[in-house]
Amino acid sequence: MAALISVLACAPADEPPPDQAMSAVAHTAGAPGIGDPDFPTDGNGGYDVSHYALAVDYAPTTKRLEGVTTIQAAATQNLSRFNLDLSGLDVRGITVDGSPATFARKGDELTVTPSAPIDKKARFTVKVTYAGVPKPAKDSANLGTYGFISTADGAFVTSEPNGSKTWFPNNDHPSDKATFDFAITVPAGVTAVANGELTGQPTTAGGKTTYRWSERHPMATYLATATLGKFDLRQGKTPGGIPNFAATDPKFRSSLDKLYTVSGEVTDYWGTVFGPYPFSSTGGVVDDYAAGYALENQTKPVYGGFEPDESIIAHELAHQWFGDSLTIKRWKDLWLNEGFATYAEWLWSEHKGKQSAEAFFNDYHKRPASDPMWAYPPGRAKPGDLFNQSVYTRGGMTLHALRKAVGDQTFFQLLKAWTAGHRYGHVTTDEFIALAERMSGKDLGPLFDAWLYQPRRPA
Ligand SMILES: [Zn+2]
Repeated sequence: MAALISVLACAPADEPPPDQAMSAVAHTAGAPGIGDPDFPTDGNGGYDVSHYALAVDYAPTTKRLEGVTTIQAAATQNLSRFNLDLSGLDVRGITVDGSPATFARKGDELTVTPSAPIDKKARFTVKVTYAGVPKPAKDSANLGTYGFISTADGAFVTSEPNGSKTWFPNNDHPSDKATFDFAITVPAGVTAVANGELTGQPTTAGGKTTYRWSERHPMATYLATATLGKFDLRQGKTPGGIPNFAATDPKFRSSLDKLYTVSGEVTDYWGTVFGPYPFSSTGGVVDDYAAGYALENQTKPVYGGFEPDESIIAHELAHQWFGDSLTIKRWKDLWLNEGFATYAEWLWSEHKGKQSAEAFFNDYHKRPASDPMWAYPPGRAKPGDLFNQSVYTRGGMTLHALRKAVGDQTFFQLLKAWTAGHRYGHVTTDEFIALAERMSGKDLGPLFDAWLYQPRRPA
């Protein structure tokens, strides 16, 4: 880039610059998708977000949200315009570096044209002011309802895989992670729980309270939350010294102490198995919304309308390493999240002297050849059936088959090397296989092929 600028500067003023330089400085539109072929319009091309500052004011009675999202990004190409992802909600105005920008909407794509083009590598700030009643995403296949889901006393916010666009404009794909600040204003008496840590005491004025949270480690958009409602809280530290924040809806008040204690115990234990805890706090939230699932929101797993048992807490907190700190580049590699978190459930059971991982593996392996799990290769999660049970169970079995092939010592060293080598970054299945082969000195191609990629039961 520096070389190109000097070519232009040296061109005589009365001559046009060389054609090559002209075409290289042309500014073009950023792509409407980030390049995941399974989710072609998720995320956007042409820039990389480093930080989101979200200001959200939500009224549970009217279900109306007023928001201002400030995005700090860097251009990865010369940009004439670029897209954000936003579903529903009315955009009031957008500025880029303080100057009003024009914008257009089509489906969930919000196209922003700044008043001046943006050069490759330039940092820029986008501020979007918007309002409306958020509508969660609904998927009839197997994703269910996700995104910003209103509840009687607030909202339940779980956005995997692409629901964060239902409550703020963003680059909605896990391959672009960023740090987050939240300023969430709710009626006094309502608690706002977001990722990371509170940056001070909540402030109340005019019957409204503002909670400020900050997640200082990179986070995928689908892991962002602003779960709102009446909550009982328990705060402190895990026995190992990690700040621990547990919240339960009054309907689940009886599970608050268990949520707090088990979350702390699990977080500390996974720190000995998977390597140091990647974030600055741990905990969990049980809300009164019957989601039928839990989600590993970074530092704040959310459990939807049930009292979580140890197994699911072990699962969601294992995701803090596998999914949240190490994030997949493409959704097809989802087993790197769910296979690992499922295997963590078996490891937790083994740790507690209950059923061993080997016994879990054997029970599942006994399933008949006609079981649908064997027809779905977990190494290739399908966009229309992303959360298929095979991605979880057969993904976990893949890790157990690997453990048996390389031995316990190498296997557990591998888990720590994997989390250390990609901390806060992005991962692919090929990278995991390469590391496993390097650390074991074995050709593991046939093992991974049989377990991850073949539509039949491995021998
Ligand atoms: Zn999971």
